[in-house]
Amino acid sequence: MASRCPECLRELPEDAVWVCPACAYTLRTPAVAKLGIAVMVLGLALVGAYLMGPDQLGLESGWMPTQLAELTVEYFPLLVLGVLLLGMALVAIGAIRVRVERSRARAAA
Ligand SMILES: [Zn+2]
Repeated sequence: MASRCPECLRELPEDAVWVCPACAYTLRTPAVAKLGIAVMVLGLALVGAYLMGPDQLGLESGWMPTQLAELTVEYFPLLVLGVLLLGMALVAIGAIRVRVERSRARAAA
């Protein structure tokens, strides 16, 4: 059964996944972008942890190998930066997907 665009109420073709071909309304956020947002939230949590002091996290309390815990504390800023960049990259991939389909929709209209 065909669904309708919530914006212009036109029936959506089967292949319209992200964007309405008639009005270019974003029908849903790609999962990769949602994952990216989750990763960025994790990154922000890590920023908070970093501000608290990574050595306060209890990494060295024995549940992970001592060397790994020391490395994690030592490279914590890089870890935080990496997680944030990964999140941003995933969000960007999602945004590009929507944009590509939107421009395809415009070209077809
Ligand atoms: Zn529409």
